[in-house]
Parts: sequence; C-alpha cells; structure tokens
Amino acid sequence: MQAEYDSNNIFARILRGELPCFKVYEDADTIAFMDIMPQSDGHTLVVPKEPAVDIFGLSEAGAAAAIRATQIVARAVRETFAPDGVVISQFNGAAAGQTVPHVHFHIVPRYADQSLRGHARDQQKMEVLKAHAERVAATLAKQGA
Ligand code: 5GP
Repeated sequence: MQAEYDSNNIFARILRGELPCFKVYEDADTIAFMDIMPQSDGHTLVVPKEPAVDIFGLSEAGAAAAIRATQIVARAVRETFAPDGVVISQFNGAAAGQTVPHVHFHIVPRYADQSLRGHARDQQKMEVLKAHAERVAATLAKQGA
C-alpha cells in the first residue's frame, strides 16, 4: 500500500523554490537544509527530490542517492559542530513521528551534556539557522563535496 503524495507539502514547496530554506547542499537527486525547529544545534535535513511520501515510495536509485548525500552532509555537520555523536533518523507515517509527508533523513548532532529539544516544536531564530547553514556549507566546500 502506497501513501498518496501531496505535491503541496512543505518540502515539495521548498524543492520548487516557492518557500525559502537555509540550504547547505544540493546534487542532482537531493537537497539538504537546516531543520527550522532543530532538536540540537546543527540539525540538518536531507531531502530526496523524488516525490515520495516515505522510504517505501522511494526508488532504489533515490534511496541510494539519499544515503550517499546523507553521509556527505553528516560528515560536514560532524566536522562543523564537533558533537559527541550523530543520530541519523527517518520516520515513516504519523504513528512513527513523521510530520512532513515527503521522505527525508534527519542528521541530529548529540552533545553529551545536552538533552534533545522537542521534535518539530520550537522554531530557531533565522539568524542562527543562517549562521549554522553557512558554517556547514563552508565545511562542505572545504571537503570538496
Ligand atoms: P518529520 O517529523 O516529518 O520526520 O520531520 C519534519 C521536520 O521538518 C521536523 O524536524 C520539522 O522541524 C521540520 N520542518 C517543518 N517545517 C519546516 C520548514 O518549513 N522548513 C524547514 N527547514 N524545516 C521544517
């Protein structure tokens, strides 16, 4: 059973350039940008361009490209923020915690002395997100990604 894709979901609109985001990375198949309600500093989303609701609707090629991009961006997030660990997660269905119906991967730095902020709860200041995005993009450029 395949969930029906809503082409007006928020990430579809970001992908079409109708809504802004603080982008850190783009290739032919994916983009990555800062989560607007980050659970920790550096929380970044990797979003396949393919219109799929969840992992089950994503093609094999799309899944491979998404994981490749997630690894590239996660390396840069780790180098930028020097966290103690990095969680990579992906939710399928509201019951699993998915709030935006376009498949995406979370890169969430974990700092040993800090608990996570709530999922999709508090919006971060735009200037903070912008500064974080610039730092990650600069690391990616340095890494030649
Ligand atoms: P999900 O709950 O679907 O796994 O994750 C959706 C994520 O998207 C949440 O972490 C939430 O904070 C983030 N988010 C929701 N709306 C926007 C938005 O308009 N822009 C950005 N950059 N992130 C968003």
